[in-house]
Amino acid sequence: MFDTILIANRGEIACRVIDTCRRLGVRTVAVHSDVDAQARHVEMADVAVSLGGASPAESYLRGDAIIAAAQATGAQAIHPGYGFLSENPEFVDAVEAAGLVFIGPSASAIRAMGLKDAAKALMAEAGVPVVPGYQGVDQSPELLAKEAEAIGYPVLIKAVAGGGGKGMRLVEAPKGFADALASAQSEAKTAFGNPHVLIEKYITSPRHIEVQVFGDGETAVHLFERDCSLQRRHQKVIEEAPAPGMTPEMRDAMGHAAVRAAEAIGYKGAGTVEFIVDGADGLRPDGFWFMEMNTRLQVEHPVTEAITGVDLVEWQLRVAAGEPLPCVQGDLTITGHSFEARLYAEDVPAGFLPATGRLAHLAFPKAARADTGVRTGDVISPHYDPMIAKVIVHGSSRAVALRKLRQALAETQVAGTVTNLAFLGALARHEGFSVGDVDTGLIGRDLAALTDVPDLAPAVTAQAVLALVGLDRAPQPLDGFALWAPVAQELAVAFGEDILGCLITTRGPGEIDVAVNGQIVAARYGANGWRFDGQPGAAVFVEDGVATVFGDPTTVLRRVDPLDVEAGAGASGDLIEAPMPGLVRQVFVSAGATVAKGDRLAILEAMKMEHSLLAARDGVVAEVMAQAGSQVEAGAVLIRLEEEEI
Ligand code: ADP
Repeated sequence: MFDTILIANRGEIACRVIDTCRRLGVRTVAVHSDVDAQARHVEMADVAVSLGGASPAESYLRGDAIIAAAQATGAQAIHPGYGFLSENPEFVDAVEAAGLVFIGPSASAIRAMGLKDAAKALMAEAGVPVVPGYQGVDQSPELLAKEAEAIGYPVLIKAVAGGGGKGMRLVEAPKGFADALASAQSEAKTAFGNPHVLIEKYITSPRHIEVQVFGDGETAVHLFERDCSLQRRHQKVIEEAPAPGMTPEMRDAMGHAAVRAAEAIGYKGAGTVEFIVDGADGLRPDGFWFMEMNTRLQVEHPVTEAITGVDLVEWQLRVAAGEPLPCVQGDLTITGHSFEARLYAEDVPAGFLPATGRLAHLAFPKAARADTGVRTGDVISPHYDPMIAKVIVHGSSRAVALRKLRQALAETQVAGTVTNLAFLGALARHEGFSVGDVDTGLIGRDLAALTDVPDLAPAVTAQAVLALVGLDRAPQPLDGFALWAPVAQELAVAFGEDILGCLITTRGPGEIDVAVNGQIVAARYGANGWRFDGQPGAAVFVEDGVATVFGDPTTVLRRVDPLDVEAGAGASGDLIEAPMPGLVRQVFVSAGATVAKGDRLAILEAMKMEHSLLAARDGVVAEVMAQAGSQVEAGAVLIRLEEEEI
């Protein structure tokens, strides 16, 4: 076994590799960019080496600097994680030329699987079923169109160098072929520098089932399958193992095919053979086809670890250090069921836009495995993947594991950035998914329901409001004491674009009524803390006037300061100015619009609060200078009203 290894990666996977190294007594060397200087993986490693820069090209993709760091710190081997240099055969060659061990397959195995067309041809030769299609070198549009016709529509055009769904186009009928081909080729050229495509029969009710393999360079075993059919735009969202509805015959057939694939290229280390499965009428041993092989550890490997009890990173280190495979096929069994959900900083209502921000608060339930590379206070930066964590659960059956997943997601707490947590929760409750009826189109079909924002319950607002004014503590004996009338306090909070007026009336110690837009919620303090209309309160996190009420779903409410709103109304009445530097969130009017005094014309986001900018008088909009999304200075004129006729 190695004394010291370098991990050429960041984030959750670097941390996860370090965890296993710790357990095995292996010293770890982290590398990091400038923006990651304080990152969790740097803190966890025994030694850290700065690569400088921020973007991957300036840091984690600098193979030479990484190899130099390994040599300088006495590391004998390099673990590439996933992404970055993990499937780069030139890097493998360079690592080996430097006298170091690459923890992964040989450069030739990576090359063999690097291009989808060559890999498909090789697999067909090894007797692995491949999707019917054309993967030839002739790329003339006429020939490709003819091949598509011969395969039979619908067909899928795929970039041979593709990944992440780029350069992929579904074509339903011949008339759409030429345009789809042109756009797939140009996307492939831009993304991969290689415009070549292949054409495949499109499987209409497809499931993505992949097999985890592990080789020692000669022989290989498989660690069963994972179902990754819950995808959004070809990106995996929730994965599970084993696959629902899998039969022993089909598992056997897929496992054997995957092992054949691995052995055909002398595979060493952890790899994944991805198959597409026709789920139209149940799983059949002749209904799966090779798609591609990922020659690295996959993001979703923990579900395999959960059902097999194998630590795949430990196996990677042992096999790379020259040990034989830790066990034979017959030793491997499946226990229970596991799910993994990928938690991202992303703005789901805005179309799953990657988000950035500081994680003001981050906590995971003890009952789940959370693989993460960030802590409370860390920043999700625009330079890297916005994944916050992978939440992994294991249960004795699929139903038990799914219940645990729902619970784990409901108990996961993130404040400071938007996340896809509510979307994951909705998916975990999806009826079809619950009964194991999955295919890759599920999310797309039910997207509206899965991303629906439920109505805000007054009790949730009441909790946020109490926390915002600091009344969510244990009551004090003199709370609410006043000579003539109950103590009352007014407060406005914003939920998205809606502003809610709230009135907090303290009637006595532990007895508060909160009127939310006139609807009264009774907050009462008892042995187990505050209850709202009889229901127990949730955990609430407050920072800078923003309350995050955790739960299913988690709700974010911002305190709106009435003084700021008035300040924004503009002194002259003609001009609507930004009261402070901020981001224009929304503009509600355009030139020519007639407005009345008090109308909301725009929203400015500043100091983590939303400020409504109101019209100071009746009038007609002359000009709109502000654009939603633009950053403005204090005093900037955003909207001008036509001068009043006197
Ligand atoms: P990439 O490497 O770009 O991620 P893949 O070849 O792995 O592309 O395919 C990504 C996803 O596209 C699969 O998981 C599956 O959902 C879908 N897909 C791929 N091939 C087919 C096909 N022949 N028919 C239907 N869907 C497919």
